[in-house]
Parts: sequence; C-alpha cells; structure tokens
Amino acid sequence: TKDIGKIEPDFIRSFQFENKLLPLTWVVVRIDGCHFHRFSDVHEFEKPNDEQALKLMNSCAVAVLEEFEDIHFAYGVSDEYSFVLKKESELYKRQSSKIISAITSFFTSTYVLQWGEFFPHKELKYPPSFDGRAVCYPTYNILLDYLAWRQVDCHINNQYNTCFWMLVKSGKTKTQSQDYLKGTQTREKNELLSRQFGIEYNSLPLIFRMGSSVFRLKEAVAVENGVVSGKKLEGEVAVDHCNIIEHCFWEEHPHILN
Ligand code: ATP
Ligand code: ATP
Ligand code: MG
Ligand code: MG
Ligand code: MG
Ligand code: MG
Repeated sequence: TKDIGKIEPDFIRSFQFENKLLPLTWVVVRIDGCHFHRFSDVHEFEKPNDEQALKLMNSCAVAVLEEFEDIHFAYGVSDEYSFVLKKESELYKRQSSKIISAITSFFTSTYVLQWGEFFPHKELKYPPSFDGRAVCYPTYNILLDYLAWRQVDCHINNQYNTCFWMLVKSGKTKTQSQDYLKGTQTREKNELLSRQFGIEYNSLPLIFRMGSSVFRLKEAVAVENGVVSGKKLEGEVAVDHCNIIEHCFWEEHPHILN
C-alpha cells in the first residue's frame, strides 16, 4: 500500500496555476449555448427568432444578477449573454476559472429549471450546456465598445436571418436563399423585406433588433408589460431592449457601470 504520509500538500498544490484576472478592470464573462443550432432545431424554435427562448435566456440572466451582486450589467442576444462585473470586484479573489464556472453553471441550471415555465408544452429533450470565457477590459470606453460590438452583431445577424427565413418560408431552398443574399448591403436587405414581404425592418420587435440589457434600477418605475402592469422597485433587476451603441444610454444611466 501507498504511504500517504509522504504526500506533500504544498507540492501537489504547486501544480495549480494562478489564473487571476487583472485587478481593477471590468471583467466580462460571456456564455454561449453549445451547439444551439442543433438545440434550437430539436426543440423547434421559431425562426428566425423564438421569443420564448429569448425570454428564457433573459430570465436566467436576471437570476444571475440576483445571485451575483458584483455583476452590474448584462447584455444578451441569441444563445449568448455577456455579464459585466464591477471593476473593483473581488469575487472568488478574481480567479477566472471559478468566476466563469460559477456563473456558467448557475445560468445553465436555471435554464433547465425554468424551461417548463417558458415552454409548458415542450419537453426538454436533452441537457443543454453553455461555454464561458472571461475577458478584462481596462477602460470604460473599451468596455462600451465591447458592448456595442455585441449589439452590432445582433443587428447584422438579425437582419440577415430575417431575410433568410422569409426567403425560405416563401419557397426558396436554404442554398438559394444564401446565394440570393450573398454580398447584399443593409439597405438592399431592408428593401427586400419591404418590397417582397411588406416588412418594415424598423417595426420588428425591439427584443429581436436590440437584444436585451439587464441591470438594477436606480429608482422605482412603472412597468407596462402587455396586460400586466405594475411597479418595479429601486434596486430590482430589470430587462430592457435599449440602444447601447449610442452613448446617450450610458450618459443617462451613469450608475450602472461607474
Ligand atoms: P457553438 O457551440 O459554436 O456556439 P451554435 O450552434 O450554438 O454553435 P451559434 O453561433 O452560437 O452556434 O448560434 C446559435 C444558434 O442558435 C443560432 O444560429 C440559431 O440557429 C439558434 N438560436 C439561438 N437562439 C435562438 C432563438 N431565440 N430563436 C431561434 N434560433 C435560435
Ligand atoms: P464552497 O462554495 O467554498 O465550495 P461549500 O459549502 O460547497 O463552499 P465545500 O468545502 O465544497 O464547501 O464542502 C461541501 C459541503 O457540502 C460539505 O462540507 C458538506 O457539508 C456538504 N456535502 C456535500 N456533499 C454531501 C453529501 N453527499 N452528503 C452530505 N453533505 C454533503
Ligand atoms: Mg460557442
Ligand atoms: Mg452557441
Ligand atoms: Mg451564439
Ligand atoms: Mg463546494
């Protein structure tokens, strides 16, 4: 048998590498659904945008902000969410693997737990998973550029996908639709939607065009949510579909990231 008295914990521990995130920088943890192209097929998500699936993602993000006080803002689109920690955060002593795994697994288990609320008539057919990564942004402006980049991506993908799925639904094959859209500019895509399908891109729901922003409210507000209206209290976590590319949003909400 092995002499366990010879095991030296300090020696064993010395193989663990330091993975601390740079101090006093904004840490962004971005999670993304693994193989959600397949997941959305198997679970028959509406194309190009399944609103319930987006609302489930948003609800999980709200739960994450309620769980982790140091996360001050989150932005989500499609199967991804970016979580921004305040720059002074000492969560898990800034060890990246702990921060990433704790946020990602909390998000994932919430997704599974809440599935039935958002899809009461759809069985969850297999366990979804998300991957996660952390990136440090050293200045406020670079952080805002990061968030703007994700929203630009949302816009470009949504516009492409809206055209693509309208063409497919009108009888073209996926390959034909792809070829048809190859090289088209924003304006041409908007014209296609409007001329051929009578869709004004700018009148599509904000949640599709802008993605979703999640943050704590600075003061109480009245909320109008379809038939339900009520009040949200100061400090409560809210979801909005605002333009975060324009700096006026950040000027109007200086409390979020400062
Ligand atoms: P990877 O594992 O590399 O992330 P992926 O299949 O998840 O692969 P993504 O680039 O993350 O690829 O794209 C996510 C895909 O999930 C989208 O292309 C889309 O097909 C699907 N999807 C995600 N959310 C929705 C939604 N709300 N409605 C419809 N489809 C969605
Ligand atoms: P941390 O978040 O720092 O890991 P923790 O509460 O999870 O905090 P651990 O050192 O990981 O602390 O210890 C896990 C604790 O969970 C154990 O101390 C024990 O109380 C409890 N626990 C885990 N598995 C079992 C089990 N199978 N039966 C009974 N208790 C368990
Ligand atoms: Mg991925
Ligand atoms: Mg994905
Ligand atoms: Mg994705
Ligand atoms: Mg533990």
